[in-house]
Amino acid sequence: MMNLESFSIESGYFVFTMMPSLRCSLNCPHCYLSKEQRRSKDILSVENLGRACGKVADYYRMRGLKQKTIVCYWYGGEPTEMGQEYFESAVVTIGDAFPARDGYTVKHTVLSSLINVDPSWHALFHKHCGGEIQTSFDWTMRGAGYVRHWERSVRGARLDGLRVSTISVVNREILEFGPEQVLDYLTDHGVAETSWLPFMWNEQNDSGAYTRFAPTMRAYSEFMSRLTRHWLKLRATGANPPEIGQMRFILAQQAKGGLANIAGQTLFLLPNGDFVLPDYRNGCQEFMQPFGNILSQDFADVLSSPARRAYLRKQVLRNGNADCGGCEHGGHCLMEFWKENRNGDDCFGAKGYVEWLQAERDRLPGDVLNQSRLY
Ligand code: SF4
Repeated sequence: MMNLESFSIESGYFVFTMMPSLRCSLNCPHCYLSKEQRRSKDILSVENLGRACGKVADYYRMRGLKQKTIVCYWYGGEPTEMGQEYFESAVVTIGDAFPARDGYTVKHTVLSSLINVDPSWHALFHKHCGGEIQTSFDWTMRGAGYVRHWERSVRGARLDGLRVSTISVVNREILEFGPEQVLDYLTDHGVAETSWLPFMWNEQNDSGAYTRFAPTMRAYSEFMSRLTRHWLKLRATGANPPEIGQMRFILAQQAKGGLANIAGQTLFLLPNGDFVLPDYRNGCQEFMQPFGNILSQDFADVLSSPARRAYLRKQVLRNGNADCGGCEHGGHCLMEFWKENRNGDDCFGAKGYVEWLQAERDRLPGDVLNQSRLY
């Protein structure tokens, strides 16, 4: 197996993506879950979550890992639909499995739509998530009513002292709004950090939503370049626009070098105990690739399963893409999970944006370059 020591679960840094329930009452056009999954009441019991964490801790012990970082990223579905009682007892169970006295650092981050989320959750975000909440923001792709509701929720979260960051799937409605306008809008709403993902094709949105809402990657790269140019302009005038995660990632990775974008740090845990990650077939159609089941296997067996070894090999070899083979940006582009690029378009690594940022490098303020080394 390839050496994964410096950028992987095997080195002790685990982004433990929690999807113990896939339940969500919304119907977003980009969602990778079927309606049946979103309405399902299936949930991984706290007891079984504890068993899963115990097996991860056994692996850390067996390997004698010095670095012991567990980043619990509560995803879904809508994590708050699991209920506060479940969330609190899950956090306690995770803390018991990874205690600070054994050298563990555990962090919890919740990604929520913030739609129909009771404000009583705010106290839990303060207590367990360091006062932060990450919320999805898709502008009018989910309808005008969604935007009004989201604005109210963000205002409420900020009034309760939470630091709000957004994660957006770049869609045609956002493009029409405009990168400058959307950044001004998020600045006005006091958002601290933003992340901008390409709109992916999956089995659920194949029936029309993908054609309707997904921009080309060329349009994505242009959007990101204009967004960043406007960010720099706002910063120069003394304003405080939210951070752009992708800019920070590219700059930080260029400074560090190496392979960061091979998904070696994370696994998604599903309600039935399966560990999975997004993979692609038919070129770039997304599905969930299973590696094993933590309720019936040891964590070491899941990590070294033939399916995960093949998956990591595919990441390191950049999916065998001819266009990626000779590309100098392989270690710092925005390709998150490797797949085929589309003919006649910019690649999924957003080469257009990466090269724009590289060309602008000399004009970036020193603090941006220096801070990015910390990302
Ligand atoms: S920038 Fe594009 S072409 Fe280059 S390695 Fe990344 S995905 Fe491949």
